[in-house]
Amino acid sequence: MTKDEAKREALAALEAAQEDIIGLAHDLLRHPETGYREVRTAEQVAAAFAARNIPHRRGLALTGVKGTLRGRSAGPTVAVLGEMDSLIVPDHPYADPVTGAAHACGHHGQVAAMLGVARALTDSGVIGHLDGNVALFAVPAEELIDVEYRQELRRQGKIAFMGGKAELIHLGEFDDIQAAMLCHAASGAFQLGIPESTNGFVTKVARFRGRSSHAAASPHRGINALYAATLALDAINAQRETFRDEDHVRVHPILTKGGDVVNAIPAEVRLETFVRARTREAIEDAARKVDRALKAGALAMGAAVTITTLPGYLPLINHPALVRTFRENAVALAGEEAVVALPHVTASTDMGDLSQVLPVVQPSVAGSTGSTHGPDFVAVDEATAYLLQAKALALTVIDLLWDGARRAREVAATRPAMTKAEYLAYLREMEREETFTGLD
Ligand SMILES: [Zn+2]
Ligand SMILES: [Zn+2]
Repeated sequence: MTKDEAKREALAALEAAQEDIIGLAHDLLRHPETGYREVRTAEQVAAAFAARNIPHRRGLALTGVKGTLRGRSAGPTVAVLGEMDSLIVPDHPYADPVTGAAHACGHHGQVAAMLGVARALTDSGVIGHLDGNVALFAVPAEELIDVEYRQELRRQGKIAFMGGKAELIHLGEFDDIQAAMLCHAASGAFQLGIPESTNGFVTKVARFRGRSSHAAASPHRGINALYAATLALDAINAQRETFRDEDHVRVHPILTKGGDVVNAIPAEVRLETFVRARTREAIEDAARKVDRALKAGALAMGAAVTITTLPGYLPLINHPALVRTFRENAVALAGEEAVVALPHVTASTDMGDLSQVLPVVQPSVAGSTGSTHGPDFVAVDEATAYLLQAKALALTVIDLLWDGARRAREVAATRPAMTKAEYLAYLREMEREETFTGLD
């Protein structure tokens, strides 16, 4: 069998299985579950693996399911990932009426496409011509939401990290994988696109403490924590002229507690923000300025502020050789004009974390409409949204593992930005709490 024949047969198998693939996408769309709660979704994935006799392990980072397809000889393992989690968008047309969970980020399509890759390689027998393994990895908790629930899971020792991929890296579930990819849903005037990079971020929670006093009878005895917070917000906004365009800094704070009662000087006020940027250095620079601004608000009012910093996600770096291989196949499937290089994305993903320790590529697949995370984000062209990504990923896997897995070996030989130990140490070092007292 030549590589071109293998690709043709894989595509034919995928076409023949398209009803099952789209059927699974429909099923998951109608049963959305948020991160670390993807119990039913994991059940569906495991059932699909079991139906095709694909050996798999379950319960990884609570809900992850990892199937393995073995090629004709030992070699590198290439992973195709499918993120299982949904968001909470109660007014989405496919929202769960009880929980408000909804697939407003299109992750259900990733899981369906991952199983599409399995069908393409197994139904055709092409897996028996590959020199390495394919991991089919349904992964939990990409969206960083539901923070209190996850903090509770951490307290109970059930997880160590908020994001699914960080947790799986920590558990060693990527140790046997040499390259990983997934295709993310998008709306746009293209079929397949490859973004240059994405922002990373850290989370800041600031708790301002002043002194309560009657707001009319004795305001002079109080220390107004709300004014400390609003001064801090102004000071954060004043930093914006120092952010360089090329760093794509995004700082977007909200007040989560503004006071207790209107006739007392607010004694406790809380705000939260993400601090995002294109590089780790730019995130750290902006985060330092935000800390300074928070302290400045406390100092001005004679209040105190406790700043809790939590690691968010790291910037995504797509591996150039994986980008090239994916792009070749995308062009073969969709044509030159329909495959685009997308600019830097200012949002973030935990695929960024994986990209710091492993070669990855995360292209975008069109076929959806509306704005990502919005109530109007739905797949409208299912052949693109669900099937095209499966085709492009399957062909990329074949290229990587063909002919002694030459391309996968080349990719695996490049040194990642961080070792796993450095990455985990970085996350632990990012998590800190500091109290600044502006009282005289
Ligand atoms: Zn999302
Ligand atoms: Zn997403």
